[in-house]
This record gives sequence, structure tokens and C-alpha cells, in this order.
Amino acid sequence: MYKKETICIQSGWKPKNGEARVLPIYQSTTFKYESSEQMGRLFDLEESGYFYSRLQNPTNDFVAQKICELEGGVAAMLTSSGQAANHYAVFNICEAGDHVVMSSTVYGGSFNLITCTMKKMGIECTVVDPDLPAEELEKAFRENTKCVFAETIANPALVVLDIEKFAALAHAHHVPLIVDNTFATPVNCNPFKWGADIVTHSTTKYMDGHAMAVGGCIVDSGNFDWAAYPEKFPGLCTPDESYHGIVYTEKFGKAAYITKATSQLMRDLGSIQSPQNAFLLNVGLETLPLRMERHCYNALKCAEFLQNHEKVAWVNYPGLAENKYYELAKKYMPDGTCGVISFGLKGGREAAAEMMDRLKLAAIVTHVADARTSVLHPASHTHRQMNDEQLKEAGVAPDLIRLSVGIEHIDDIIADLAQALI
Ligand SMILES: *Cc1c(COP(=O)(O)O)cnc(C)c1O
Repeated sequence: MYKKETICIQSGWKPKNGEARVLPIYQSTTFKYESSEQMGRLFDLEESGYFYSRLQNPTNDFVAQKICELEGGVAAMLTSSGQAANHYAVFNICEAGDHVVMSSTVYGGSFNLITCTMKKMGIECTVVDPDLPAEELEKAFRENTKCVFAETIANPALVVLDIEKFAALAHAHHVPLIVDNTFATPVNCNPFKWGADIVTHSTTKYMDGHAMAVGGCIVDSGNFDWAAYPEKFPGLCTPDESYHGIVYTEKFGKAAYITKATSQLMRDLGSIQSPQNAFLLNVGLETLPLRMERHCYNALKCAEFLQNHEKVAWVNYPGLAENKYYELAKKYMPDGTCGVISFGLKGGREAAAEMMDRLKLAAIVTHVADARTSVLHPASHTHRQMNDEQLKEAGVAPDLIRLSVGIEHIDDIIADLAQALI
């Protein structure tokens, strides 16, 4: 097995004699076959092959293969966005009448998806404080619980998940742990090593890295034994009427979960990533380890600079030794966490907005986790309808500035922060 730097460059597309050196874009909706019978076998899932790019496309699959190797999984698929990845990851094993246990600190988009939109599909959710001891978290589980959902490093709370604690809890209740590993990336953390069963990504962030392509990915570790709990996972363990009664766990073994997500959810809901975007994602992946190293180095320098600045009231970065999550971060991410920091100014909400207006290099954008340094002030932007009281209830400090540290030269980033903190 190659190291991650090598996987990022060499895995996925492996050209044969005379083929394109670089991953080709299969910009084609359909694929041609010699006989009607052969095409029929594809539709019966008797043979694997491409037929329509709403379900699968070769460019996507080469890129998914690379991410799968980076995570140490057995199968993976790309989706049109991180939202689609998290939707499919949960919906693949949950249906109306089922229940999910979810960490309270997950990304706002995932929070809305699982607590509001999936509720309309009949799927209930219990939201838990991820820092509670296992005995307290136990209470959230029900007979109809089908999975646990959390993030390695929460966006934007920067809470580090105790993956082993969550995996043990999920497994004690015979359900898988799904971890959104977007912020850590597979370069800094492999949740499967610590017991997670399914990993998801918004590839829109560090993986793409250039802020060019929205996308997502689901990876299966192959470790969860669905067939041991057929009554809990009927979708995987009982005949699928829409495919002539095949049983995914019997026919596809360790690939059952991803095969079902592709052949059912992608077929019916169609959130496939465009092959153009998959190509761009692949370009980003080639330099992911180099970029993550620099993001983490720059973020730590910025966090230290802010911590020592008289105008700054507080800094939250799990790479700082004083941080509440420092020990957990060191255990799960010994090489670094991510490039995102949050901090507050002594002057509060107004000072935050003023400081941001003075920034010259760091741009005010909604995006995070790409090559360019950027800032967002939730109280003025994403949460601007709320007063200070409401913001606190939503877990967003009114003075919180989210700083996504890019890979520009650290001296220039710090000089920009310094001139804005007057
Ligand atoms: C951005 C993000 C998502 C959603 O991804 P999109 O690609 O924007 O759909 C999900 N999870 C995390 C942790 C994110 O940061």
C-alpha cells in the first residue's frame, strides 16, 4: 500500500499502453453495447458496466477509487454535493419510521437536512451534545435507531469528535457510525481506523481546494456487518423488488452499501457529480497532502498571533495546546487538524464587522477551506436576522469570526490581520 502522497498522485486512473496519461473526462451521458442481451444483464445488475451517467460515470469512479484508497475503504461513490452525500449516506439505511442519533455541532446544512427535511420523510432525529459521557449518550438510542451521524471536526464549532467513543456506542446498539470527514480530510484523519463505518465528504472544500467545483463523496469501510441485523436493515438484507428481488448483502458482500446507494438512490434521486467536476476534483486531490500541511501550519501561526493580540478576546483552534480539544485532536489527527479558526474581538459584534471591512487579502465569502484566505461573520451574514440572544441559543457567539486560513505566505496573512486589528 502506497503512502497518501503517492495515492493522491497515482491512484484512480491507471492508463494502459498508449492511453491518456491524465484522467480523461468521459463527457458522455450514455455508453454503447454490442448486444441487447449484454445491456439487459447490466440492468439486472448481473454484470457491471456503464449505461447512463445519472447512475455512474467512469471519470467519477476513478476519482471515487482514489478517495476510497485514501480513506482505507472498500467502495466509494461521488455525489453532486456534500449535502447529497450526507443525504444518501443516511437515507440508504433509514426509511420512514426510523431514527438517527446526531451530534449537535454538525454543519448547519446537515443539521437542517437531518432534523427538518428528513423529518418530513418520516425519519426522526435525536440531537446530542457530543461531549457528553457515553452513559448520557446511551439515552438517545431507541429500538428504531439506524445510525449515528457526526463530524470529525465540526464546521464551524471546531469541536473534535471522540470517534472511538461514538463508534463503541453505535456498535453496542448494532448500528453504524457515519462520520463527515470534510474538515480533517483523509490526509489528517482516517475515521475507519478508529471504528467509524461510513465516511462522507463535501469535496467542495479542501479536496477540490480551488473553490471551483461543488461535490461530495461517500466511502464505505466494508466493516459493518449488515447481514448480522437483517431486521434492522431490510433495504440491504431483503429482496429489492426494483431489481428482480436481489439481496444486496448476498450478492455484493462488502460492496452492498455503495451498490445499493448507486443502483437505488442515484437511479431514483439522481444527484450525480458531473464528470467535469470530478476531473477538477481529481486535480485538487493531487496536491491535497501538500496543501493540508500548509493550511495547518498557517492556521496555527494565525491562531498564535491572534491569541497574543490585545484586541482579541478569544481564539478557538484545536491545534492550540490550551484548546479544549487539543488532546483529542492530537490522538486522532497527529499531523494537524484543518485551516479553519474562529475568534472573537473584545469590541464584540460591531468590532468584528469593522475589522473584516479593513481586511485586504482575506476576502469576505461564504466558502471555507480552500486555497484563499477568507472570513465570514455569521452574526452579520448567515445568521443576520438574529439578535445576540438568539445567536447564543444557536451556538454562534455574536462576535465570532470564522477565519479560513489559506496557503498564501504566512507573513502576508498575518500582516493583513495585523493591519485590520487597529
Ligand atoms: C460544506 C459542508 C457540507 C455541505 O457540502 P456542500 O458541498 O456545500 O453541499 C457538509 N458537511 C460539511 C462539514 C461541510 O463543511
